[in-house]
Amino acid sequence: MEASSYDLLKVKQILQKYELCDYCLGRQFNLLSKVRDDELGKFLKETLKIETKGCYICSSLMSKIEDFGLKVIDYIKDYEFDSFLVGVSLRAEYTEREDELRAEFKLRGGESIKSSIGKLLGLKISKLSKRVNFKDPQLRILVFPESELIKVKTKSIFLFGRYRKHIRGISQKIRRCYSCKGKGCLYCNFKGVKDSITKILENRISPLFKADKVKFSWFGGEDENSLVLGKGRPFYAEIINPTLRKVNLETLIFKDAIEIKELKYVEGLYKGNFKVKFRAEVNFIPEPKKEQIEEVESFFKDRTIKVITGKGEREKKVYRINLKKVRDIYKVLGYIDGGIHIKNFLMGKEGLEPNLAEKLKCNVILNPSKPFDILDVDLT
Ligand SMILES: [Zn+2]
Ligand SMILES: [Zn+2]
Repeated sequence: MEASSYDLLKVKQILQKYELCDYCLGRQFNLLSKVRDDELGKFLKETLKIETKGCYICSSLMSKIEDFGLKVIDYIKDYEFDSFLVGVSLRAEYTEREDELRAEFKLRGGESIKSSIGKLLGLKISKLSKRVNFKDPQLRILVFPESELIKVKTKSIFLFGRYRKHIRGISQKIRRCYSCKGKGCLYCNFKGVKDSITKILENRISPLFKADKVKFSWFGGEDENSLVLGKGRPFYAEIINPTLRKVNLETLIFKDAIEIKELKYVEGLYKGNFKVKFRAEVNFIPEPKKEQIEEVESFFKDRTIKVITGKGEREKKVYRINLKKVRDIYKVLGYIDGGIHIKNFLMGKEGLEPNLAEKLKCNVILNPSKPFDILDVDLT
C-alpha cells in the first residue's frame, strides 16, 4: 500500500469529525478492492497517526462479522450445496449514515456496508470450496447481522419417476378421513387423512433429502380403487427446501403394494403429453346389441373428442375402445389421451363429447370396488 495513492487530507478531515472503524474507513477509499477494507483502514489511520474507538457508521457491527461468519459456517454445515448466495438484512439507518457521510465529503464511495458484509461472509463460505451464484444458488443464506439471526432456504430438487399400485383402496391424492373428517380417529390411526400415494411417496422421499415437503405433479389420475400397472404412472416430485442434494436414488426404488419403479434427477417440470391404456369391467343397462358394440368400437378408432372444463375446451383423442362380453359383464379395453377422465368417459358425464354411454345410448355401471385399472402410461 502506498500512502500517496490515497487522499490523506480527506481521510484526516473525515476522522476529525467522525469516528470510523477500520472496515468502514477502508471501505470508503477501497475503490480497487485489492486489499481488505479493514487492512486499508488500519493503514490509513496508522499513516495519519489517528486512533479511533467506536464507529459512526456501523456502531462496531463490522468488528463482529468475522465471528458471525464462523456462526454462519456452523449453521450451514449440514447442507449439501455447491453454490450459494448471502443476503444481508440490515436496518436502513446504517446505509443512511454511510450515504450522508459520502455526500458530505464527496466520496465516490465503493461498496455499501450491506454488500460489504455479504462479501465478507461470502468469502468465508467460498473457502469451503463453494461458489457464489447470484442467479440461481442452491443455498440462499439470509443473515441479520445485528441479531445474529440466520435463515437458510435451498433450491428445489426435481425428480421424475413412475409408480405402480398393486392394491386397491389407496387414493392418489391426500384425502381427509371419511369417518372423523380430519380430526383423527381409530380408523385413520389418528392421522386425520387416509393413506394416499402422495403420503406414501412423500414419507419415503422427504426424509432422505431432509426436506420440508414434496410436491407432486402427476401424469393423470386414477380412482382410489384402481390398480396402476405396466411401466407405472409417471410423476414429477419437487423436493422443497432439501438439506441433502446428492441422495442415491437407488435407495428409493422399492417394491411393495405401492412401488417406485423408476426415479431420476431432472432439471425441472416439463409438461408433456401422454397416453393411457386402461381396462374396466362394466354393466350396460339396457344391454346393447352386437351391431351397436361393433359400431361404437369402430367409431372410437382414432376419434377426436372434446373435453370441456371450466377453463375452456380442449381436443383429445381416443385411439381405441374394445368391448368384450365375458359371462354377464363387459370388459372394456381402451387407449386414450391423458387428460380424459376415464370414469366420466365411460359413464358419459357432461364435458366429454362424445363419450361411451352416449354413443351406446345406455347407462354404464362401474363396479365401485374396482372401477378401472391403468395398464400403462406412455409418454409421447
Ligand atoms: Zn464501522
Ligand atoms: Zn379418522
